[in-house]
Amino acid sequence: MYVCGPTVYDYLHVGNARTMVIFDTVRRYLEYIDYEVSYVQNFTDIDDKIIARGDVSEKFLEEALTDMKGLNLLMGKTKNPRVTEEMEEIIEMIDVLIKKGNAYEVNGDVYFHVPSYEGYGALKKQDEHVSRLEENSLKKHSSDFALWKNAREGEPSFESPWGQGRPGWHIECSAMAKKYLGETIDIHAGGIDLLFPHHENEIAQSCCANDADFANFFMHNEFVNINEEKMSKSLGNFFTIRDVAERYSYEIIRFFLLSSHYGSKMNFSDEAMKAASAGYERIRNCIEADGKNEEDFSEYRRRFEEAMEDDFNTANAIAIIFELVSAVNKLDARPSLVIELCEILGINFKFSEYKASINEMDIKDFIEQREQAKKNKDFALADKIRNDLKEQGITLIDTREGTKYKYES
Ligand code: AMP
Ligand code: ZN
Repeated sequence: MYVCGPTVYDYLHVGNARTMVIFDTVRRYLEYIDYEVSYVQNFTDIDDKIIARGDVSEKFLEEALTDMKGLNLLMGKTKNPRVTEEMEEIIEMIDVLIKKGNAYEVNGDVYFHVPSYEGYGALKKQDEHVSRLEENSLKKHSSDFALWKNAREGEPSFESPWGQGRPGWHIECSAMAKKYLGETIDIHAGGIDLLFPHHENEIAQSCCANDADFANFFMHNEFVNINEEKMSKSLGNFFTIRDVAERYSYEIIRFFLLSSHYGSKMNFSDEAMKAASAGYERIRNCIEADGKNEEDFSEYRRRFEEAMEDDFNTANAIAIIFELVSAVNKLDARPSLVIELCEILGINFKFSEYKASINEMDIKDFIEQREQAKKNKDFALADKIRNDLKEQGITLIDTREGTKYKYES
């Protein structure tokens, strides 16, 4: 599997997290049914936006790794190549494309010539061969795209046969997929915005350079939206994974992202996160209750598998986990299958370090507010404070000496 990874010029947002969590879950399920999975997710650490912000990629790459661990991605078994460390393979592939007549150089830039590849447009299911060439353009055809960009004065750059420059975005993935997974890969994945032109261009490059099929399957996840609009850095309507993890937790973000099928749009909102949080708690309570009765729940496993094998329908898979939770609670049964099915989805029930970041002063404040609310007979507010803290992993215990609290673990 090759998953197109993030460009590291800022903290990652919840939309980026969806891609990472969904395909990590696909991988986990494939492993559960005994496939051996080689998994690559790159980091784009050189790009116009990174250059525009000054050299920030090192810092944000580290921050991305922190979030990825928090989201419980299977990091140890994943190759995460960085574009800046793969220049040799990238340049070599561009060179092959020039020699085969699929690409040409002009003034230190190299372009892929789209009309040179018959199959172009197959993924998007559309021919894009009408040339609307802008005046002054050095390209031969308006659809031609850059494989290599000549560096301007003062920009970070790499040496190449075409002078100092940096690679175009599309060629990076073609080169890294080939290096780590071979000419033909099984599953190529990314967000739906990457279908065109990014994946279409990758296919063109790889098929022309390798004379082989590029990917047997493409999978694209739909967007995380905010008020019907794509969450994105450029629109400014984004929430970083880090901020949301501090308010809720990494586990609840993962749980939220899996609660919809990857092919449907999902809306990010406080209500949606609260609902995810409540669902997560319900499962956690069932596990914590740790019933002892032995029961046969194999029917739930079968239905869970059926849901996952219906195009990885994690929404239905979670619905079946909820049904199982009800059955386990009712029979005071062992929650071992609940734990196992959650693990297949990568949902764990440890609290992340950010859970504990709500400090003692804050908790004491909340306890005081709750006391006040009770005095005012505002029991709704009192309950809300208790539940909000509970969501943060903090349980209040009313004793004769006053209210105490403990962290859940
Ligand atoms: P980028 O850094 O913008 O190239 O994004 C990295 C990955 O996150 C790509 O696979 C994108 O398709 C995906 N992505 C970006 N924004 C969203 C969003 N709002 N919802 C879902 N996926 C997204
Ligand atoms: Zn890519």
